[in-house]
Amino acid sequence: MIKASAVNKYFGDLHVLREITLEVPRGQVVVVLGPSGSGKSTLCRAINRLEPINSGEIAVDGVPLPAEGKALAALRADVGMVFQSFNLFAHKTIVENVMLAPVKVRKTGQAEARKTAMELLERVGIANQADKYPAQLSGGQQQRVAIARALAMRPKVMLFDEPTSALDPEMVQEVLDVMTGLAKDGMTMLVVTHEMGFARRAADRVIFMADGEIVEDTTPEEFFTAPKSERAKDFLGKIL
Ligand code: ADP
Ligand code: MG
Repeated sequence: MIKASAVNKYFGDLHVLREITLEVPRGQVVVVLGPSGSGKSTLCRAINRLEPINSGEIAVDGVPLPAEGKALAALRADVGMVFQSFNLFAHKTIVENVMLAPVKVRKTGQAEARKTAMELLERVGIANQADKYPAQLSGGQQQRVAIARALAMRPKVMLFDEPTSALDPEMVQEVLDVMTGLAKDGMTMLVVTHEMGFARRAADRVIFMADGEIVEDTTPEEFFTAPKSERAKDFLGKIL
């Protein structure tokens, strides 16, 4: 579903993605771990073409990343992204936030878009808040709306970049529960997170990045019990 081959990315002289080669099969849940500055966010942004790459190739569902135009818009719609900051539209209601992209980009009719949006809000456990405004919801609820909004485009892949990092601790689990549900439903997911419980329970695979490189690519079991590299051992020593 995602295939990256020998991807390199520079910010000026800084080599932030180094020969990244990665395949994520359909339905797999991959958790990306690594210290701050290791290139995790840049990798997500590159997969969604929010960030141009200097060399290499990235394909989603067999389609190489188009550079621009309609093909790029279609690809972006195939790849849902959820960030640390939820960025909901403050002056639109919850259900309107979820309807917006299908109506604007997919040209879905209002009634159908609303129906789908309500189903998705149901799925993330928040349908009863549909007519409120984002500021009236907790951070955890807003992030669940952001997930519903991404799902509204019927993406083939979901990328999560530290979706719980900005949340108060008591709200982290409700968002992880929604993500676990998605994983169980077979969604292909790439998840950057520091939530090790989620990585252990929900991931099929763990990728550990350091200094722009994939240093380990293994099962959660193997990664947490027998990390091979010094950098992974050092990382785990600091966070566990
Ligand atoms: P991570 O998500 O693992 O913390 P990032 O992908 O955000 O890492 O960043 C990787 C490196 O690229 C860091 O050194 C960061 O400072 C740098 N970087 C990220 N975005 C930019 C940018 N827009 N311009 C210049 N440097 C950047
Ligand atoms: Mg990051």
